[in-house]
Formats: sequence, structure tokens, C-alpha cells
Amino acid sequence: MSTRSLKSLSKDEVKDLFNSVDTILTDCDGVLWLHTKALPGSPEVLNEFRKMGKRVFYITNNNVITRDDFLIKCEKLGYAAVKEDVLTTSYLTACYLQDIGFKKKVYIVGTSGISRELNLVGIRNIGVGPDPLRVDVATLVMQDFKLDPEVGAVIVGFDEHFSYPKMLKAASYLNQPDCLFIATNTDERGPSRVNDCVVPGTGSMVAAIETCVGRKPFLVGKPGAYIIDAIRERYNVDPKRTLMIGDRCNTDILLGTRCGFKTLLVLSGVNTVEDVMQWEKSDKKEDHELIPDYYIGTLGDLLPMLS
Ligand SMILES: [Mg+2]
Repeated sequence: MSTRSLKSLSKDEVKDLFNSVDTILTDCDGVLWLHTKALPGSPEVLNEFRKMGKRVFYITNNNVITRDDFLIKCEKLGYAAVKEDVLTTSYLTACYLQDIGFKKKVYIVGTSGISRELNLVGIRNIGVGPDPLRVDVATLVMQDFKLDPEVGAVIVGFDEHFSYPKMLKAASYLNQPDCLFIATNTDERGPSRVNDCVVPGTGSMVAAIETCVGRKPFLVGKPGAYIIDAIRERYNVDPKRTLMIGDRCNTDILLGTRCGFKTLLVLSGVNTVEDVMQWEKSDKKEDHELIPDYYIGTLGDLLPMLS
């Protein structure tokens, strides 16, 4: 398969493309904004999509914030949104546990973003907050820590207080074969470097626990295909009439490929056209799953093509 620049399409082809979708899922960082600054033209394009009658969802692997926190950011940067439009991995994790009828308690390696979304649907949870090593490991194992028999799942998200005791506790719960192992996402590191600092992401913490327990987690966020299960029923979404927009191919575009969405890469974030050209030349099936149907420089470049 090969990708096409949206700019190489005729006006009628662009019209046909947007007539063929009624749901648009958009990634956020690198598409709508970079950190705290909106990308020029992106808010106007989302407004135009809505005027055309499209349902727009914001989809982010961020699990530190709740949907309410996310709405505050949208408002600040000029994006119209209501809670039902927002799919954070903290929220999707709560959806997943609801979908499977989970009734037990959750041990969280992560922040209050996850805990607050679980509280909203009445799922009991423990683990959020600092948990440093206060005694030696032998004392922790023999005296300090007792397994809570109510815990039936471990969720791993981004945790700035990630520690040896947390890893030990998560692994001990997961050592019970019926304890669910859930990862919000597996992004290796934060989106960019500041002051030459590398910011380890959720994936690094998931990998530490995965190494210890010897099994893979259920992945809630992109590129895990659970998202389509979460929204198909709740919001009546048809994958064939859905467009996924993103700047990162191994999460956004791969999600789209796996779910049967049409896919659009914007070049204002992580991946480049050169990356896509390399995958087109590759013999590997997994490289071909990263190739978007279409690409464009920035989302804002779409504005004149829509009117
Ligand atoms: Mg992004």
C-alpha cells in the first residue's frame, strides 16, 4: 500500500473522502497543540469538521489527567469540547473494567488521574501516591507488606513516584494468575526533550513490572484496538466511516490500521514523510501497518481544502 499527500487530491476527491466519514478521532499533542501552544489553524479545522456534521473525539494516551482536566486545557487553547468527546486512557481504563463487569479492588501504579476516573464509576482502588522504601527489602517482604485479598487487578500508568515497593506490590498481586494486568499505554518516553532531559514514559514502568511477572498486560491505549470496542457501543461508531488523525505512526496510525479506520498523518509532530517512504520499501508486514492512507503538513493546511 502507498500513502498519498492530501494536497495531491482533487477538490472532488477531498470532498468524497470527507463524505465517506462521519466520525473523526484526533490525537492531541503534535496535531492540535505542542505542549501548551495550539498549532495554528487546528482549532478552526475541528470547528469546520463539526459544521460538516462530523463527530469529533479527542484521543490521548495521557493517563495523568481526567476528562475534566482535559476540558480545561481545551478551553484554554480554543478547542470546543464536552466530556463525551474526550478519550483519555484513564477514562478508557475505567470503561474497560466496567465492560468486563469487574467488581474487585484495583492496585494502581499511577496517578490520581486513574484513581479519579475509577472513583466516578465506583471501582475501589489503592496505591496512588508516594510509596518509597522506608525499611530494608527483607523487612518489607516479611513484615510490612500484606497482600490485600480484595485486589483483582493491577493497572500501570505513568507514576512519578514509581518505586521498588510499588514494583514489589504490583508483581506480588500479579503473581496470582487470576489477577488482571492492565497497562494504560506503553509510550517509551515523554514527547520531547527539555534541558537535554529524557522523560521516561509509562512504557518504561510497564516494562519493569512485565519483566518481573513474565506476562504481558492488556493494553488499553493506542495502538491497542480496545478503543473501538469502547466507543462502538457507547457512541454508535462505525469503524469504516471513521478517520484517525495523528502525528505518530506506531500509536495513532497503527491504531487506525488495526481498527479499520481511514488514517491521516500530520507532519507537525513525531513522524516524517521519509519514515513513511522507508516503510513503503520494507518487506515487513508490521512496517506496512504504520503507513497512513494520507498525509498533510499540518492539520491547519486542511482548512482551505474543506471550504
Ligand atoms: Mg501525538
